[in-house]
Amino acid sequence: TDIDSQKRNAALLEQRIAERTAKLQQTVQELEGFSYSLSHDMRAPLRAMRSYAEIAQRECSHNQDALACDYLGRIIESAQRLDHLILDSLNYSQILRDELPVRTVELAGLLRGIIDSNPNLEPPAAEIRVAFKQLLVRGNEAALTQCFSNLLDNAAKFTAPNTKPRVNIRAQELTAQALLAEKQGPPKTVRVWVEDNGIGIPKDSQEMIFGMFQRMHPEQAYPGTGIGLAIVKKAVERMGGKVGVESEVNRGSRFWVELPAG
Ligand code: ADP
Repeated sequence: TDIDSQKRNAALLEQRIAERTAKLQQTVQELEGFSYSLSHDMRAPLRAMRSYAEIAQRECSHNQDALACDYLGRIIESAQRLDHLILDSLNYSQILRDELPVRTVELAGLLRGIIDSNPNLEPPAAEIRVAFKQLLVRGNEAALTQCFSNLLDNAAKFTAPNTKPRVNIRAQELTAQALLAEKQGPPKTVRVWVEDNGIGIPKDSQEMIFGMFQRMHPEQAYPGTGIGLAIVKKAVERMGGKVGVESEVNRGSRFWVELPAG
């Protein structure tokens, strides 16, 4: 009958869609694996180029060939930049690919750990204050470490010349109004603010900076790859949270990360 043949057609179609989706997923996985190993394997020859340039630079400083020394210096700098770019791309693709199992994480301790292991974030280079003793969130510890390291590195980096970075990290508990209205018994949300005294971000760029390779400040004054905030956004979203920023040029920036309370 007509109905039988319609059912058969529908089933056939369903099967074809399933087959194609599986094929597509396999292709995506292969591409991801390919670009991951490509990025990874590019680091070894790059390291060799940099090492030889460094040796040649030492040689030419004996010969006092200023121009050659300058060129070699530029080669070394470019190699360093490319290495950062590769490392950041690897981190980004890892955040896309890895499972991010979540558990309860204590954030004050995690932040102290990040600060204590980076001299750029400690006095006398910078003053970073964590305004809470204990804060439990649900998240993936490695991804949270990566996110807050990126935010703190930026807070310490994007300051005006001769200005010591002062950063305040504070927490705010939120109960999502929208969820309350729907009576879903919402999990409480925590918003963590990272407030700096830096150069600020123009209003019209504040959304863009969370995209890949988006940078608002010149490479010479503020080196970077433009991947840090893309990692933060992707990781936080994969953990069920949100990120954003409030800022005014020359008046500092306030980045926020929202996560489920632990
Ligand atoms: P990177 O730091 O490598 O440039 P990010 O993705 O971390 O890349 O940041 C993207 C851009 O956003 C930066 O180049 C800068 O223009 C802007 N930005 C990020 N954090 C801050 C901050 N705390 N203050 C001012 N500008 C910032």
